[in-house]
Amino acid sequence: MLTSIVGINWGDEGKGRMVDLLSQDQDIVVRYQGGNNAGHTVVNDRGKFILNLLPSGILRPEVVCVMGNGMAIDLAHLDREISALREKGIRITPDNLKISDRAVLTLPCHVRLDCLEEARLAGEAYGSTRRGIAPVYSDKYAKKCIRMGDLLDPAYLAHRLKGIVEFKSLMIEGVYHSDPVDYDETLAWLTRYGEIFKDYITDTGIYLTEAHNAGKRILFEAQLGALRDIDFGIYPYTSSSSTIAAYAPIGAGVPGLKLDRTIGIMKAYSSCVGEGPFTVEWFGPEGDALRNAGGEFGAATGRPRRVGPFDAVASRYGVRVQGADEIALTKLDILSGMESIPICTAYDVDGKTVTDFPMGEALNIAKPVYEYIPGWKCDISGCRKKEDLPKACRDYIDRLQELTCSRITYVSVGADRDAYLLY
Ligand code: GDP
Repeated sequence: MLTSIVGINWGDEGKGRMVDLLSQDQDIVVRYQGGNNAGHTVVNDRGKFILNLLPSGILRPEVVCVMGNGMAIDLAHLDREISALREKGIRITPDNLKISDRAVLTLPCHVRLDCLEEARLAGEAYGSTRRGIAPVYSDKYAKKCIRMGDLLDPAYLAHRLKGIVEFKSLMIEGVYHSDPVDYDETLAWLTRYGEIFKDYITDTGIYLTEAHNAGKRILFEAQLGALRDIDFGIYPYTSSSSTIAAYAPIGAGVPGLKLDRTIGIMKAYSSCVGEGPFTVEWFGPEGDALRNAGGEFGAATGRPRRVGPFDAVASRYGVRVQGADEIALTKLDILSGMESIPICTAYDVDGKTVTDFPMGEALNIAKPVYEYIPGWKCDISGCRKKEDLPKACRDYIDRLQELTCSRITYVSVGADRDAYLLY
């Protein structure tokens, strides 16, 4: 049984929390794209955890976690993340963590390049997290990366690195007039982390195929959301990887397997971190109130997130590109107490009403068209059954289903593991 959990919006929908909940029925949890440029926050009986690279299933001792070939891995960051979890009593060994031999490595020079490019762009910057993600994915497609499995072959690694360092140095010196990449330093860095992680390196394609054949339940966990996907997102303000469910089997190492179930995580309002068009953005006290109520500050960077009402145009598109069979609606409790709740049902683009998510300049100039739904004035965080929810709250959920052409099956009303209901 193959299930994927993906973001319907701009990321930060609460995927980590839902993976943590749903991984109780899973044998294996796989991250299949991205790097340490975003974070999941998970709160459970063992404490509060921020995960940037590790799959959220790592918090369950019986679950095996896989980091797939679609990921870009910064081993220094991974080493720190693992140490922080171990300090809180989480066991991480080659038995419960497998890292794909084909995953590309984010090197210190990629992080440096990311910073240099954002500085060069100045006012036009993309709002990169400066974790080296765009440079490493560019290099993946330019075939200039070191992959995890290369660490197991020192002679090959040393040879590959020569050419890569030469190429990166030409770029850094020529374009940015900065210091070249130091070959010895980079090799020492790779050797050091190769030693730490060598026992974790696995052909995850073989591992997952055998697990699937043995009837194991596998969960694919995405980072970010549909609107950050490199192909379908708000390009160029996207991430550099594929965040959509269809990429999950590819980025995990099992491109021949088909997903049985895709659960889209959709937030009851909108949030967006970094630059780019965000049609429903609320400014001033309205925005501050929603941001504070929702605790909308980046898990990886601490940056305040931009916030606004639910955007049905963007979310319907997100549901479609994710091919979501069902939806988990998160953070509904945050909207409690509002007199009336706006929902963006269309965009006004230069006087024209648009309901299909646009691209490029049309998206940049789009203005939100709102309808208003009566709010509910009570705390819903204790609701555990559909019938517990006030009528106004159910009306809001039903309207979101209608507008996004989706089926909401889970509703999350709090950060804790059990703060949800089946809808
Ligand atoms: P992710 O990257 O999609 O996992 O999103 P985040 O790490 O930003 O997680 C969302 C934040 O909201 C985390 O701090 C969660 O603990 C919290 N959270 C998730 N679901 C809910 C919910 O239904 N209600 C509330 N109040 N908080 C939630």
